[in-house]
Amino acid sequence: MRRFVAGETLPDALRGLERLRDRGLATTVDVLGESVTTADAARLAADRYLEVLDALAGRRLDRNVSVKLTQLGLDVDRDVCRENLFRIVGRAAELEAFVRVDMEDHAHTERTLELVREAHARHPGVGVVIQAYLRRSADDVASLDRDRIRVRLCKGAYDEPAAVAFPHKRDVDDSFRRLAEALFRDGDYPALATHDEVLIAWVRGFAERERIDPSRFEFQMLYGVRRDLQDRLARAGYTVRVYVPFGTEWYPYYMRRLAERPANVLFMARSVLRERRGSRDSD
Ligand SMILES: Cc1cc2nc3c(=O)[nH]c(=O)nc-3n(C[C@H](O)[C@H](O)[C@H](O)COP(=O)(O)OP(=O)(O)OC[C@H]3O[C@@H](n4cnc5c(N)ncnc54)[C@H](O)[C@@H]3O)c2cc1C
Repeated sequence: MRRFVAGETLPDALRGLERLRDRGLATTVDVLGESVTTADAARLAADRYLEVLDALAGRRLDRNVSVKLTQLGLDVDRDVCRENLFRIVGRAAELEAFVRVDMEDHAHTERTLELVREAHARHPGVGVVIQAYLRRSADDVASLDRDRIRVRLCKGAYDEPAAVAFPHKRDVDDSFRRLAEALFRDGDYPALATHDEVLIAWVRGFAERERIDPSRFEFQMLYGVRRDLQDRLARAGYTVRVYVPFGTEWYPYYMRRLAERPANVLFMARSVLRERRGSRDSD
């Protein structure tokens, strides 16, 4: 778990963020948690984000956070969620920070986009995530581009039915390229979030051919995934932002990371066995 999560507490996360900054990487912080079932839990999650924003500003770290709306109460009560999001966005506006709203499964897409639009009207430093696997994403990108709402483009991490999402990797990758082109053409500072070297090479080639300066977009990757590639791109002069999750509620996040790459399950099983053997030896 430690490979994918920067620790359980805010001080752990701040140390991780400082290390990334020293490697020349930009960051966005995620307080782990999702699908809360009470308004109190949703309010507490928003309080945590306010604490994080203050700590980032105090330590002169990147003022950039990523939030999930089901963590702020989207499934409990839309008004509670809106109020929590607005509290975070209000503090972000005071601190000139950026708030990225993560995208969850397709049952939440429409409501997430609606609340993002409302929040963006209050503070331009609010952006959202678009998933290339969703069939609806071309329309969503066009309308977000019109409204100058910044997009992070990723492939998509949830198990979705074929009625709403492309089931085959090739189609998802094609969709990623089409959406990236649209974002480069009409969007505002797109974030290309992938560890896929073929897609990254395509993005670099496209930007060079179209004479798009590297200062007009960024790559994003997950904490603990392809650190070699993160460093390589940063050394080549690209902005690379690392998504840094921390907190105790790591289970669903961790399971999505395992699902993305079957080799991770083997990796995890080996580490558990190694630890068990180690603890037996020291008994
Ligand atoms: C910054 C960021 C934010 C994201 N936000 C969201 C979001 O809001 N909503 C959402 O649905 N999804 C989100 N995702 C996840 C995304 O949708 C994909 O599930 C994830 O990035 C894996 O896809 P990939 O583009 O890296 O390509 P893949 O084709 O899955 O992987 C390409 C290569 O990357 C490496 N790799 C990929 N994943 C892992 C892993 N878990 N462990 C080790 N190596 C790996 C492997 O070398 C693999 O061969 C986010 C991803 C990033 C990087």
